Formats: sequence, C-alpha cells, structure tokens
Amino acid sequence: MSWSGDPVWLADVLRAAGLRVIEHDGWRDRGHGDFRDLRGVLCHHTAGGGSQDWRIVQYGRPDLEGPLAQLVLERDGTFRVIAAGVCWHAGRGSWPGWPTDNANYHVIGIEAVSRGDGSDWTPAQLDAYKRGCAAILARIGRTAEDCVAHREYSREGKIDPAGIEMDSFRRDVQAFIDGEEAPMSAAEVNQIREFVTAFCGPISADVKDIREQLCGEAQRDIGQYGGWPQLGNHTVVDALADVIARLERLEKREHPLP
Ligand SMILES: [Zn+2]
Repeated sequence: MSWSGDPVWLADVLRAAGLRVIEHDGWRDRGHGDFRDLRGVLCHHTAGGGSQDWRIVQYGRPDLEGPLAQLVLERDGTFRVIAAGVCWHAGRGSWPGWPTDNANYHVIGIEAVSRGDGSDWTPAQLDAYKRGCAAILARIGRTAEDCVAHREYSREGKIDPAGIEMDSFRRDVQAFIDGEEAPMSAAEVNQIREFVTAFCGPISADVKDIREQLCGEAQRDIGQYGGWPQLGNHTVVDALADVIARLERLEKREHPLP
C-alpha cells in the first residue's frame, strides 16, 4: 500500500502519535504543486537553531522560493505543519526505491531546528523526531528503511542532520512503527537507578523491618514478626489497631445505642 496525493492528514497523524502540533494558516494549500506517490521521509537540520527558523522554511530564501519542507521540528519536540504540497528540500541524490534527483515529489521533508553541529539536540526533540517519522511512515505504508538522512540521499555534500546516527535512529523508528517503545539504553537504566538511590537512600535490611512493622500479625504468623517492646511487643500496625478498638469500645459505653 502506498499513499498517493498530498498528505493533508499530516497534523492529524502527528497528533494521534501523541505529539504537539502547530498548524500554520493555509498549510493544506501551500506547496509547489501536488505530490505523486509518497515513498518516505527525508530528515534535515535547519542549521540555524532559533525559534524563528520556521520562517525560512515557510517563506524561503532569496535563492529558493518557500516552502522548503512540509514540517519543522522545534527544539521542544513540537511539530509545525507548514505545507501539504511539494517542497524544495531534497536536491539531487538517490536512495533505493526513490526516483533519482526527483525525491521532492515523493518524500516528506522534516527540518529539525538545530545549529547544525550535532551538539544541540534535545531529548524531547529526538524522541519526537523518531515518533513523527514513524507515524508518517506507518500512514503511507512504509518501513523505517525509507527514513533517510539528507546526507545519505544527497550527492551535493549535505551533512544533515548532523550528530544523528541513522542506523540506530531507524531501529527506534521501526520499533515505534511496530508499536513498541524504544528500549531503554544501559545509560538510561543507570540514570534511573542513581536517581532512586539518591532519593530513597541505599536499600538495606531496614526495609524488611519497616515492611514487617507495617504488615503486623500477618507477618508474625509466617515467622517474620518483630514487635516493639514499648508497644507491648506489637507491631506499629497492631498497636494502632488496638488503640482504635479501645476507642470504639469507649465510645459505645459513653453513647450506648437505645
Ligand atoms: Zn537538508
């Protein structure tokens, strides 16, 4: 299955993937003519890095009329939907299954806001980049094989998107297409462990004592009971239950039912 015609569904598909979307006025009618069949996504960086980068993508530059891509991905992970029609972003190049030197009529361009030296991607932006590509590829019936860096496609010396290793990027995109979460890296697991340890203190034998104190008689009956001498060798839970029971009896004596 492949999608033919303009991707007028872009905003809906991205939102359905849980992404934040800003729809620019007139996006459905913006573009340099209509798409033929859609075959993939081409990934770029803006080489600017600021909150106004989208203006060049929408309006173009002196040597190239806008729009220059269908989507802009902000540093906080928000997608701006700029155009549904064909945009000038691919230039000359090739990729298996794509028409050589003619990708603009067959692929959706995403311009991700970045200085372009590979050092300023935010985690929110990278996560949204993968989820967005996955949502689009799923919609057009393609796999992560058709999620391509401009530098991989181009024969004009492009370097974008700098700092993103495409094989692992595609693995994560495919995992999203398959409906799986991207697996946590060892570094992420370690980060969580360090956070928990800093927050709770190291886990020690005290935890067992606390649990037994809270569980009360049930723990005693399986031989893990350890009461407090100052509570008549009751656990905290059992001592509290005893206090409540005494209060209830007192209440009944003072206000007997008629
Ligand atoms: Zn590019």
